[in-house]
Amino acid sequence: MSRSAIVVGAGIAGLTAANALTRCGWDVRVLERSPEPRTTGAGIVLLANALRGLDAAGVGDVVRAVGQRAYPGTLRDGKGRALVHVSAEQIAERLGTVAIAFHRPRLQEALLGGLGDVAITYGAPALSVDPGDAARPATVTLEDGSTLSADLVVAADGVRSRLRAAVAPDAAEPVYVGSTTWLGVLDNPGITEMSQTWGPGGEVGLIALGDGRLYWYATQVGPAGSPTGDPAADLAAARAAFAGWHDPIPQILAATTPEQVQQLDLYGFPKPIPRMARGRVALAGDAAHAMPPNVGQGGCQGIEDAVVLAASVSGTDSVVDGLAAYDQVRRPRTSGVLRAAWASARFGEQLSNPALVGLRNAALSVLPARVMLDGMSRFASWTPPALPVVR
Ligand SMILES: Cc1cc2nc3c(=O)[nH]c(=O)nc-3n(C[C@H](O)[C@H](O)[C@H](O)COP(=O)(O)OP(=O)(O)OC[C@H]3O[C@@H](n4cnc5c(N)ncnc54)[C@H](O)[C@@H]3O)c2cc1C
Repeated sequence: MSRSAIVVGAGIAGLTAANALTRCGWDVRVLERSPEPRTTGAGIVLLANALRGLDAAGVGDVVRAVGQRAYPGTLRDGKGRALVHVSAEQIAERLGTVAIAFHRPRLQEALLGGLGDVAITYGAPALSVDPGDAARPATVTLEDGSTLSADLVVAADGVRSRLRAAVAPDAAEPVYVGSTTWLGVLDNPGITEMSQTWGPGGEVGLIALGDGRLYWYATQVGPAGSPTGDPAADLAAARAAFAGWHDPIPQILAATTPEQVQQLDLYGFPKPIPRMARGRVALAGDAAHAMPPNVGQGGCQGIEDAVVLAASVSGTDSVVDGLAAYDQVRRPRTSGVLRAAWASARFGEQLSNPALVGLRNAALSVLPARVMLDGMSRFASWTPPALPVVR
């Protein structure tokens, strides 16, 4: 008889876990707080480690089909001068596969598509979980007071996770990263190459998503609390903040409408979580290690979690032992990525000073692309464990 799993949260980590567990023969049910799948959202780039993880979960091909090669890409200074250029071929040669950019709703659709007839209940916010033990199942309590029990619970409920308290009650709360970010998706006016600009006190990225869409992000160092909740006012603030940046940044922001933009303050855990599993409950994704987005690995790490989790619990009769092994493997790995993301975020924060920016950019302009690739491969060279696939 197949074992049962409840996945709480239908984000990247939860849906990848649902796919990987289903593939290993688990009877999976997904609970999602939102009343329906998201139809809006920004972009995301997944590197080789994540794409290999999705292959292991059985959805690599369907996911790749809705994305677009993220590179070639150029890192620029605030005046638009190229500092480092990386081609798609260099990435593929170094990491074994190209990086892919996605419109988030399309990525979610592809992950949902992989699930076939797995039950997904929308509008089902979980309140808490009893982790159970070797002799007792784990039990999720929903906001409406109902309860559901299973052999395994995957808590993939994001940075504001409610279920985290049952696993790591002593975990630090997420803190403001020191930057606010604007995210936009609009009709692509003809950008074909990824471009990342590191200017004073901020960063802007332009990434083609396929389907004729362009994703841009613009990050600015500053105090928390600047998003007003009014998209028109937030967009006006972005246009003002990046007005002096090189072309086509001001034009792209001018072409974006309030409906196409969102602003959010960035939050992450100040230090690694002390445990990622207890009893029959595992934390996965941002619920365990939300991090500054600076190394582009948050979503990738959630995918890695999901695959290692499925391998760990499927390779043993004891879910509790499997989750202990999961914790042993995933905590050191995600702690290292979290620390690197903070180091990168703090580096960016110090660079509000134009003189320091000039020095950094001068140093970058003499670096070969190989050094950028070394940085990427530090985390993206990961390969997934083999899953005991039954379907
Ligand atoms: C600006 C920005 C850019 C980024 N760019 C990249 C990038 O290029 N590459 C990359 O790899 N990562 C990137 N990241 C990080 C990445 O977006 C996250 O790490 C990733 O989306 C987290 O996925 P998740 O599934 O863990 O959590 P989430 O996406 O937050 O999903 C959690 C889900 O759980 C649901 N939920 C919450 N509470 C409950 C509850 N109580 N009951 C039921 N359901 C619940 C939520 O509705 C949601 O659907 C970026 C992040 C930011 C902020």
